[in-house]
Amino acid sequence: MTTSTLRGKTALVTGSTSGIGLGIARSLAAEGANIVFNGFGDAAEIEKLQNEVAKEFGVQCAYHGADMSKPAEIEDMMAYAAARFGGVDVLVNNAGIQHVANVEEFPVEKWDAILAINLTSAFHTSRLAIHGMKKKGWGRIINLASTHGLVASAGKSAYVAAKHGLVGLTKATALELAQTGVTCNAICPGWVLTPLVQKQIDARASQQGISNDEAKRALLADKQPSGEFVTPEELGGLAVFLCSDAAKQVRGVAWNMDGGWVAQ
Ligand code: NAD
Repeated sequence: MTTSTLRGKTALVTGSTSGIGLGIARSLAAEGANIVFNGFGDAAEIEKLQNEVAKEFGVQCAYHGADMSKPAEIEDMMAYAAARFGGVDVLVNNAGIQHVANVEEFPVEKWDAILAINLTSAFHTSRLAIHGMKKKGWGRIINLASTHGLVASAGKSAYVAAKHGLVGLTKATALELAQTGVTCNAICPGWVLTPLVQKQIDARASQQGISNDEAKRALLADKQPSGEFVTPEELGGLAVFLCSDAAKQVRGVAWNMDGGWVAQ
């Protein structure tokens, strides 16, 4: 799909040095958007990534290393994007972490970090981006929730709470902006094979004494009827659609792309 609406616009994608965020950043760049990358990683690798995306798609790329658990750093990142590109037109709240443990054993600092990174950071970036979007009369906020924003799994209390919260934030934001050119929606992926999920596959393989491939198949068989992973490129395609003119009345949805996970 080509959406000329993105040519010359700026997309800030949190957590875009890896996995889904990187896939979405590439898809938006392919449609002409300048990209502000964010996330952790090796400085030289991040520099290379920016140069590659800029060259491949003929867009401008920048990077800010704000830690999404720190409001002051988020404020600095949003000010940087405003100074460098005149604001953020497409905000993709994607940075996220996971920790698996039952409630009674859940480390308090992990709970706090998951809530801060997976939920509260989206409040901070949104509150700082909306004024500029309204002024321009156009904007797109896309929150990367999860099937765990719609249904739960044991062992993932903090993640499930944060992602359900993110779906709630999405709906409230969409309603506040309903009569503007700014939309807010959530994407709810099922399993995507990224470092975040590979850690869970590794844990399963070692706990059950099975191979990496067997652990992958077992993970999918538990939840995802298609038996296949969703890809960052497919999620990028959905993000591009949400940015298109055709999606201007798509407001406040939590759109699952999950191989049938929540249809069960
Ligand atoms: P990933 O581990 O590949 O990437 C996470 C990104 O977030 C990285 O760029 C990392 O550097 C960044 N990040 C982590 N902590 C950060 C912090 N404090 N500040 C700034 N950046 C930080 O993970 P992923 O699977 O691509 O996940 C991306 C998003 O998609 C997350 O919100 C995740 O919950 C969600 N999600 C993933 C899956 C899946 O199956 N992989 C499914 C549903 C939802």
